[in-house]
Amino acid sequence: MILYNTATHKREEFVPNEPGKVSIYTCGPTVYHYAHIGNLRTYIMEDILDRYMRYQGYEVTRVMNITDVGHLSSDGDTGEDKMLKGAKREKKTVMEIAQYYTDCFFADCKKLNIRRPDIVDPATACIDEFIKVILSLIEKGYAYEAGGNIYFDTSKLAQYYIFNDFTSEDLAVGVREGVEEDGNKKNKADFVLWFTKSKFDDQELKWDSPWGIGYPGWHIECSCIAMKHLGERLDIHCGGIDNAFPHHTNEIAQSEAYLGHKWCNYWMHVLHLNTDSGKMSKSKGEFLTVSLLESKGYSPLAYRFFCLGSHYRRSLVFSYENLDNAVVSFEKLLGRIAQLQPAADETVDKAALAELQAKFRAALDNDLNTSLAITALYDVLKAKTNAATKRAAIADFDTVLALNLLETADKLAKEKAAEAAKAAVRVYSDDPAIRAIEEAIDARAAAKKAKNFAEADRIREELLAQGIVLTDTREGTTWSKNC
Ligand code: AMP
Ligand code: ZN
Repeated sequence: MILYNTATHKREEFVPNEPGKVSIYTCGPTVYHYAHIGNLRTYIMEDILDRYMRYQGYEVTRVMNITDVGHLSSDGDTGEDKMLKGAKREKKTVMEIAQYYTDCFFADCKKLNIRRPDIVDPATACIDEFIKVILSLIEKGYAYEAGGNIYFDTSKLAQYYIFNDFTSEDLAVGVREGVEEDGNKKNKADFVLWFTKSKFDDQELKWDSPWGIGYPGWHIECSCIAMKHLGERLDIHCGGIDNAFPHHTNEIAQSEAYLGHKWCNYWMHVLHLNTDSGKMSKSKGEFLTVSLLESKGYSPLAYRFFCLGSHYRRSLVFSYENLDNAVVSFEKLLGRIAQLQPAADETVDKAALAELQAKFRAALDNDLNTSLAITALYDVLKAKTNAATKRAAIADFDTVLALNLLETADKLAKEKAAEAAKAAVRVYSDDPAIRAIEEAIDARAAAKKAKNFAEADRIREELLAQGIVLTDTREGTTWSKNC
């Protein structure tokens, strides 16, 4: 399997640290608000990675943190703790909003068929881990105390910037642009491991530490939670592209300084979902959530299908028009799958199935090319093999795509059959005059279904001329005599 590794800027053959096993760490949500569908694009694409590793037979352990403290409103070390901001906005405690938005996040994930990671750990449950690692970093000379806070000293590293081709100078200036300088830092790129002298005296969650009462920085949380559950050597770390710098850059700096060796082999970054007007945000424009899409009549799995249509390393533009196009394709696909009804004696053609699976694997082996994987799904429909084999291939692919394909298509097929059966058992009146009206009503319904509204109107007018008034209800059309 080939994966693009953001750390080396190359497509690389995936080789796990331990044969047959894969460890994956995913940056979890900052639970101060609902996740927007941009955040969820990242989690959908990471879910594909997780599911495809399992599909290939790896024993996967995937860990995710929940950021419930320490993520300041700027990814540098300025601004207010996002959790505190959220709590103030809602006049609740930090832990109350953390619980509420964590539950909402997993409810959204469930609707989108995103597997819950094997281990989910909130930052507030790992304070001892953070203190242990920070103490060791100080001891090893990688961290220092200044103005009450503990900082990581980036000048101690041979290479700090990992993920892009900018010069250190460009990045150091770029990230601080327009942001208040922290005079305690020895180097511009240094970052906070532990805050004690925060500007915000009302920080709600604080813990005792060897350096006084305070709270952890965001970056140290992910390093420690990953090492706590996945050990010293991590196979894959993922997140949205905005996390590459400074968050993941800082994670590498402190983890490798602490461990004394390379920490993570592959870095996977998902590019952003943008709106027509730019980056999606929780404060700008319409706040796009799964619930909002549902309230507009979109199924969450249609959004998942929309995301799978493009590669994770390309940014994706969200618009209702683009989503509508995906919905039309998804419904057509489901309609075609619904027609795959095998005869009772049909069996799966194993050779044909293996051929179809090979195409699917080739797509995902190619740096998780989900749009090609969807093409492999259309190839199943076109293949010269029986319905049982096609259904087996679709069920197999759907363990990764997770679009509930057969289940939804079968439901559609059942609904259609029920409709047809209902139409077929129409019992007409024995009275020829009434039967003529009933037949006219059925002809009008058929004309409407065929979108021949002129004919439907003509029938209604014709009946009206005879003094028959039609009333359309949800259960069908009723008639009465105009007197
Ligand atoms: P947060 O809750 O802000 O910590 O972000 C959760 C995840 O969503 C992180 O992996 C971010 O990198 C990612 N993310 C943030 N904005 C977007 C976006 N517009 N499109 C895709 N992923 C995003
Ligand atoms: Zn993280």
